[in-house]
Amino acid sequence: MKNIKKFIFLLAGIILLSGCSKGGEAKNSSDASNKENKLKVYASVYPIYDFTKKIAGDKLDVEMVMPQGTEPHGWEPDSNAIKNLENADMFIYNGAGLESWTDKVLGSLSNKDLKVVEASEGVDLIKSTHSHDHEDEDHDHEAEGNHNHNHNHEAEENHNHNHEATENNHDHEDHDHEGHHHGPMDPHVWISPKNAKIEMENIKNALVELDKDNADYYESNYKKYAKMLDELDAKYKESLENLPKKEIVVSHEAYGYLCKDYGLTQIGVKGVNAETEPDAKKMAEIISYIKENNITTIFTEELIDPKVSNIIASETGCQVKVLSPIEGLSQEQVDNNEDYFSIMEENLENLVGALK
Ligand SMILES: [Zn+2]
Repeated sequence: MKNIKKFIFLLAGIILLSGCSKGGEAKNSSDASNKENKLKVYASVYPIYDFTKKIAGDKLDVEMVMPQGTEPHGWEPDSNAIKNLENADMFIYNGAGLESWTDKVLGSLSNKDLKVVEASEGVDLIKSTHSHDHEDEDHDHEAEGNHNHNHNHEAEENHNHNHEATENNHDHEDHDHEGHHHGPMDPHVWISPKNAKIEMENIKNALVELDKDNADYYESNYKKYAKMLDELDAKYKESLENLPKKEIVVSHEAYGYLCKDYGLTQIGVKGVNAETEPDAKKMAEIISYIKENNITTIFTEELIDPKVSNIIASETGCQVKVLSPIEGLSQEQVDNNEDYFSIMEENLENLVGALK
């Protein structure tokens, strides 16, 4: 009985695959035999990929749309990524404005059977914490020059306009890591274990729907990781709540949800729309902020150049440590089999060191 069911399922899979493989037959059939005809799920960015793999285990073929080690802000899929989505059964993305390319790309796909899942659905979103934009608008316009003139206004007023701004802007960029164009809402929801649990639950529900035969398996994986996330949240709370300092100086403001959960405040070294380095005025502001607040640590990230952090560190006597936004893994992290949980543990260690 089970075998027959499996056979029918396989057959259906083959028919489905051949139905939507115009122009890609050769690749499809070799992929299909390699991956034993598992349903193909594409996750947009690393944290979503990691969560999806944890729930899917070996039952589904889970791949990442973005190349590993790439910063997600401002990234757009190439023809290879689009081809992968044409041949996928499900696409799971973070949403909340992180992947500005989804509307355009998904609308252009001929794969009309693709199931699309926004993992952050149901998360209580907070606004991007770019308080300096509101407090000191003149300064921001000066600082940005002509480069992306109306970006702040557009971003705050209208989400769609922000997409346009991102695209235009990106044409001028040479640097992989500098495309920080956050929308009006903070997209880094996974950095809070509470939100990670919501995302994992959404992913679990989507996988159960996609592949009902393995529903129990997905449910039990989710239970296991939900418990780990509860424990991680409790550990963060316990470790951070009694420390004397509450301010962190970071490269880009990716920690809004973490700050909200544990009563911290983040100060971003880079302006939100800064293409390269903060200007002299911003540097001076940050340096005096560090001195006034007795900050001892400047946080950098695994995927960005720590040059600016190093300059500030040498001016202030701070140490430079990594606080990962978990947007993508460095080669070293891949080699060490790091994942969401191991990085969150390292982050906590570094936070405790900075705040005591
Ligand atoms: Zn970010």
